[in-house]
Parts: sequence; structure tokens; C-alpha cells
Amino acid sequence: MWRIETPPQPAVVKFDGEIDEHFVPDALKEIESPIILDLRSVERVTSAGIVRWLSFVKKCGSRLTLRACSPQVVGSMNMLRDFLGECRVESVVVPMYCPVCHVESFPVYSSGKLRAAYQDTSLLRHLLAQQCTKCKVTLAVDASLDDYFSFFAYARLPREQVEG
Ligand SMILES: [Zn+2]
Repeated sequence: MWRIETPPQPAVVKFDGEIDEHFVPDALKEIESPIILDLRSVERVTSAGIVRWLSFVKKCGSRLTLRACSPQVVGSMNMLRDFLGECRVESVVVPMYCPVCHVESFPVYSSGKLRAAYQDTSLLRHLLAQQCTKCKVTLAVDASLDDYFSFFAYARLPREQVEG
């Protein structure tokens, strides 16, 4: 006899604000299912915030998946290997701008696609090629590609993204 058990649905939580000395994600303590934490609006990560973050990540263990990590969060991931703990990185924001109109753009890319391409600069540039919606010029990435994606050397991906 077969018994199919549906895995618990993840709770999707968006965190707006700064990861600083006030970062105490109380709301998440009550959640027992896996958590997807959307970090696209995080504009600042302070060193006191990192201390808080590390203990939070440790408590969550592998239940936590990070979605749309902002450039500031990616910077912390690259600076400190422990920042990710056991959590998985579903997607990250890649900061871009138009060299002609100077309009900024913050598209979100899946980690699986980025990781498959990141060791090959031409593949990565192809994946990241986006046109300005106004003038059609190819947007420039507002970061050093090597530095920005260095966390892929150790980041865990969501299970369904591991292949690609
Ligand atoms: Zn433009």
C-alpha cells in the first residue's frame, strides 16, 4: 500500500528593513514549517545585525531558504561564509543600470541558473544580458561578476534547482 505524504508548505515571509541590532525575527519563531525569507528590500546589513543574523540562521537550520537576496545581503554572504549557515539560496537580485539613461534595475535571478553559468564569463554575461526598457541598450551589471557571485563556491541551492 502506498502512502503519499505531502511535505509541509513553506511559509513565505518578506523582511523589510535593515538587518541591524534590532533584527529579532520574533514572527518566525512560531512557524514550524519550512520558511522562505524574501530579502529583496534589505538595504543595509550592519555588523551588529550580522551577529543577530548568525544566531537566527543557526536556530532555523536547514528549514530556511533565502529568496531574492538584495545586493547588501549578497555582500554579506560573500564576506562571511557562515552567513548562510545551513540555509539555501533560491535567488538573488543582480543590480544593473543603463549606461545611457542611468536608470537602475534590480532583476531577480534563480541561483540554479546563475551557478550553472558563473564559472564561464561569456555564459554568465549572456544570462545577464537585459535591455533597457527605454533605449534598448544592454544594461551593465553594477558589480564585479567574480566578486558578486563568489558565494556560489559554498552556497546550498534549493533541491529542485540543483540540476540546473
Ligand atoms: Zn536606457
